[in-house]
This record gives sequence, structure tokens and C-alpha cells, in this order.
Amino acid sequence: MQNAKGPFDVIVIGDGITGLSTVFHLRQLGLKSVALSTSEVASQSTSHISAGFITGGQLDNFTRISHRHGMKTASEVWQLGQAAYLALVAYCDQGNLPIKTASRVRLITSEQELIEAKLAVEKLTAAGFPTSLFISGIHSHPLLEACTHRVLAVQVENMSGGHLDAPSLLQKLRQDIDQTPLLPAIEQLATNFDKNRLISRDGQIFDCEIVVLASHLGIKPLLPEISDAMVPVADQWTEFQLSDSLPPDWRNVTFTANHANEWGVTGDANSLRLGGGRYLRPLAGNEAVKADILVKITDHLNQQLNQTLTFGRNAIPLTSHSALDIRPCDELPIIGPMFGNGRILIGTGYMGAGLTLGFFAGRCLADLITLGHCQALPRSVWPERLRTLES
Ligand SMILES: Cc1cc2nc3c(=O)[nH]c(=O)nc-3n(C[C@H](O)[C@H](O)[C@H](O)COP(=O)(O)OP(=O)(O)OC[C@H]3O[C@@H](n4cnc5c(N)ncnc54)[C@H](O)[C@@H]3O)c2cc1C
Repeated sequence: MQNAKGPFDVIVIGDGITGLSTVFHLRQLGLKSVALSTSEVASQSTSHISAGFITGGQLDNFTRISHRHGMKTASEVWQLGQAAYLALVAYCDQGNLPIKTASRVRLITSEQELIEAKLAVEKLTAAGFPTSLFISGIHSHPLLEACTHRVLAVQVENMSGGHLDAPSLLQKLRQDIDQTPLLPAIEQLATNFDKNRLISRDGQIFDCEIVVLASHLGIKPLLPEISDAMVPVADQWTEFQLSDSLPPDWRNVTFTANHANEWGVTGDANSLRLGGGRYLRPLAGNEAVKADILVKITDHLNQQLNQTLTFGRNAIPLTSHSALDIRPCDELPIIGPMFGNGRILIGTGYMGAGLTLGFFAGRCLADLITLGHCQALPRSVWPERLRTLES
């Protein structure tokens, strides 16, 4: 092994959206002694192959979180998502990075889901997030006009959706932090009271005051205490070319259908990205060790598109992408200092909305490190809630 290098104030492990954003925000806040440990292949990151949708709130039903964790936590998590959305849009605007914003829409596809959506709209409105429900046959709305009979209603949250080009976002962040020392991939993390020691795969040693684990599934081997809380999940999406042009109100919309089991984003003219269909995978993709592209899912998503949106008929699948994501065991993001060791910080488990939440996690972690607090980050998403796993 070689001699220790550094020491650095902070080492960030992982060069996806979370890691790059953390370094960017640390440097914005004036911290100079920051290094970034990167994987060998940048395009391996989940961020790189993501579908590029952005979303406020969560890519999920508000009631699922409020049923499980109560209204306070649900509101906090939703607020976190809203703040994340605004922060990412502002970063892209300032950096002249192309980004399209529009509504976030939930397509309600069963009577049972309609009952739940009515409650969700009530709760969201009470929590201060204006949301509307337009029911087919009762209300008219331009979004409903392009839906087939499968859609019983649309739940609309204005200006909380849209898309960007994920590789361009990552590239811009890389440019913005181009003076940052790069370290090789880290294999081992050893901590004591006043420092963290990181050992790379090729045996080099790096010391730092604080380490940020932004290495997605690569967090598991480095921090076994929290590994069980991070459930790997296989998912995939397909880019479709539409035969018909998108109706104006349907452009750049982030949408989910069937309780978010299907998700997607429309483009400007005649393109659409559609993902999900995990229920066709063994164990719904949970605990998967790899994420193959399943043709039966691509075909199924195409069928659902055909049966859901009038402009989705005769769509042609172009390219498909798949990856493993992380679903925390209690389905809340994991962002903040590690319990029992405040010198280790974590950002992961974004429940499918990692471009927005990962970007904002970086900002929140940078605030925690440099200022000692972060008002925008609720305690409900800190890792401390997972302490009971430690036994
Ligand atoms: C198919 C699919 C599509 C998705 N589409 C969207 C979308 O459109 N919009 C959205 O908001 N979210 C989307 N998500 C979720 C989103 O992609 C993730 O939540 C987000 O990319 C996670 O970012 P990250 O920075 O935490 O991890 P990653 O982007 O995976 O980055 C982690 C990095 O750390 C590196 N690494 C791992 N171990 C080590 C180590 N030991 N040392 C050094 N480096 C290491 C990895 O190689 C990787 O480069 C999608 C997820 C999937 C699976």
C-alpha cells in the first residue's frame, strides 16, 4: 500500500448526480479541500441512463406516504421534492442547460384508485400543495381529452414535471467542478473518532474528516450497517416514437399511471419515454441482482400506452434502457448523517426521483457539512430512523 494521500476535509464517493452535486455545492460554499472518488466508467451511473424526467413532490402517491408515516412526514417529504425541483430548474436555467417544465400528472385507472386519488387531493391541498382532480364524464380538461376510456380521472399538479437530458446535466456538473482532485474507486471505509480512512481498490489510502457516500448500490459494501435498508430494484424504460403529434397540453409532462406502476415523460413533438411494468419481473424487480431489459415489459408498456393515451396508438419502440435502483425498506429517501458517526453522510434511495432529489441531496449535504444545519432537509429522511436495523 502507498502512503496516505490528502488528508482532505471531505471525500465524496460516487460520480452520479448525488456525488457531483455534493462536490459542486461544497465548492460553492467555499470548501476547497474536497476530492471525488469516481467509478472507472462514468456512464455506469444510474443517473446517466435515467429517463430524464424531473418531478416535484415524489414520483408516488401522497397517501402512500401519509398512510405509512403520517401527514407530517408526508408533507415534509413532498416539500423536499418541491424544493429539489425548483433548485434543479434554477441550476439548469442559470447554466443555460436545456430543460423543459410542465405539469406532473397522475392517470387514475381504476375505481379503487379514484377513491384514493380524491383523498390524496384533499390531503395535498390541506398540506399546502395545490392539486386538482378532473374526472372523466364530469369535468373537462385538455389532458383528459387525449386519454382513452382506461383513464377515469387525471390528478394534476401544475409545474412540477418536465424533463432534461441527464448526460448533459452530469457533464455540466463535471465542468463546474473541474478543479476537483479525482480519486480511484474506494473498496473499504475505516473510521475512528477524528477521521475516515478510505482504501481504494488498488490499495491506495486516503484520509478525510468527512466522507459522503453517494455511490448508490456501492454504499452497501462500504456501510454494512445500513445495507439491509437499501433494497435493489430492477427497472427499465423505452423511448417511443409517436405516430401522432402530441397535443400542446401533453408536451413535456411527467406522468404516472396505475399507482405509479407505469411512469413516463413526453417530449416536445412526437416522442415519449415510458418506464415501469416492474410487476412483470420476479418479485416485482425487488432484490434483483441485475436489471436485464425484458422484451415482454417493453411490449407490455407499448400496449398500455396504446390503451391509455389516444396519441400513443401505433407508437414505435426505439431504444430501451434498464438499471438497478434503490428502494429503501421504509420507502423514504435516505439523506443525512449516519447514525453513530456524524463524519459519514449518505444520499440515496430517492424512490425513482433521483435526478431532482439527488441534485438537492447534494446541496443539503453540503449545507450540513459547512454550516452544520440544513433547514430544507427534514429529520424524517435522515438515516437515524434505520438505527433499529443495527443488531
Ligand atoms: C431505469 C431507471 C430510470 C430512471 N429514470 C429516472 C428519471 O428519469 N428521473 C429521475 O429523477 N430518476 C430516475 N431514476 C432514478 C435515478 O436514476 C436514481 O435515483 C439516481 O440516478 C441515483 O443517483 P446517485 O448519484 O445516487 O447514483 P448513481 O447515479 O448510480 O451514481 C453512483 C456512482 O457511484 C459509483 N460508485 C459505486 N461504487 C463506488 C465506489 N466504491 N467507489 C467510487 N465510486 C463508486 C458508481 O459507479 C456510480 O457512478 C431512474 C432509475 C432507473 C433504474
